[in-house]
Amino acid sequence: MGACLALALQRSGLAVALVDAQAPQPVSVSAGADWDTRVYAISPGNAAFLESLGVWRRLDSQRVQRVESMIIAGDRPAGRLSFSAYDAGLRELAFIVESGALQQALRQAIAETGQALPSFNESAISLQVDADCARLELAGGRLLQARLVVGTDGGDSWVRQAAGLEARVTDYRQTGVVANFETAENHRAAAYQWFRDDGVLALLPLPGRRVSMVWSTAAEHAQALLALPAEALAGNVTEASAGVLGMLRLITPAAGFPLRLAHVPKLVAPRVALAGDAAHNVHPLAGQGVNLGFRDVRELVRVLSARAPGQDCGDRPLLRRYERARREDIITMELGTDGLQKLFAARPVWISGARNSGMAAVDRLPFLKTLLIRHAAA
Ligand SMILES: Cc1cc2nc3c(=O)[nH]c(=O)nc-3n(C[C@H](O)[C@H](O)[C@H](O)COP(=O)(O)OP(=O)(O)OC[C@H]3O[C@@H](n4cnc5c(N)ncnc54)[C@H](O)[C@@H]3O)c2cc1C
Repeated sequence: MGACLALALQRSGLAVALVDAQAPQPVSVSAGADWDTRVYAISPGNAAFLESLGVWRRLDSQRVQRVESMIIAGDRPAGRLSFSAYDAGLRELAFIVESGALQQALRQAIAETGQALPSFNESAISLQVDADCARLELAGGRLLQARLVVGTDGGDSWVRQAAGLEARVTDYRQTGVVANFETAENHRAAAYQWFRDDGVLALLPLPGRRVSMVWSTAAEHAQALLALPAEALAGNVTEASAGVLGMLRLITPAAGFPLRLAHVPKLVAPRVALAGDAAHNVHPLAGQGVNLGFRDVRELVRVLSARAPGQDCGDRPLLRRYERARREDIITMELGTDGLQKLFAARPVWISGARNSGMAAVDRLPFLKTLLIRHAAA
């Protein structure tokens, strides 16, 4: 998120420096190379934004998959919901993109702007703010001064803590198990999701006969899945997905990510703003974490670009405008993903019946479905 924000702010005419504790990892994104286990479902609105920054065109189109439909199944046969891009008047619901390829495209776009964007692969270790500027000290002893520091440093944001901004964290005690598989059947550009007793299983289409799995499940079950040999894991996922794509074959090692909800009531402090996971952490069941982050970036760039001539970028009313503009989208996604997670984690039979008939009811309401799709596509 930091690289995207830095590029967008630099293009808007601001002098920017990028600090990331982690050096960029070299990635192989040629057609024959292994597939990245971390993939994102990027909304069409964010893809258009990345295109406006010259990033999207740097992705190898052979490794980007359009999602044209989505099929969601509850834990009873009656619970079924499907979305189609065509029905909502869209070309696609999302694009599946590898995380490494996206980061590489961002770095290439930054390198090719022709303007210097100072980058430091060091941790930030101290933040001082006064009336005129913020001072950020890096682990190597360097001191950076800026009108504004934007924390895009992830769910455990150091900037958030240094600025005294609170995060209310709920641990889901779940892990997102991710892995890629080859499929026997064609996925036909469809994404699948199953709300099961043991969590939420999603299969996202990748180019060719491949899918990327995210199985959000109790930490102990996740440990058991991660410990399985390749064939047994593929067998488990084939069975859990009711064989809709035929027999699966594991093509990348599985990895696990702990899942939590973090609500950050205030996104700004004097000369500090938060964006990306530093500003919100949501359950991956809607595939919206990175999309929320890109929408933060779009809004912050919009607000800063619209400031009055000579107005300070760290001006409090300006930052408050950004915070207010982002509130509704973030809260909708936090409540939506948390509500769905809780609804499907609940055991009582009457709740199970209600949630499945609720899905079937939504499925019969084309207007509501179009509204939901259009929100997710932004
Ligand atoms: C299993 C799973 C599947 C997901 N699938 C999707 C999906 O399909 N679609 C989607 O939209 N989202 C998805 N998400 C969410 C998405 O992964 C996150 O929202 C996104 O990665 C957050 O990006 P970020 O840049 O804000 O934070 P991060 O990716 O965490 O990056 C933070 C950066 O800050 C740096 N940093 C940290 N501390 C410091 C410091 N003190 N000084 C300097 N640098 C520092 C780190 O080195 C790192 O580079 C998924 C999440 C999970 C767990």
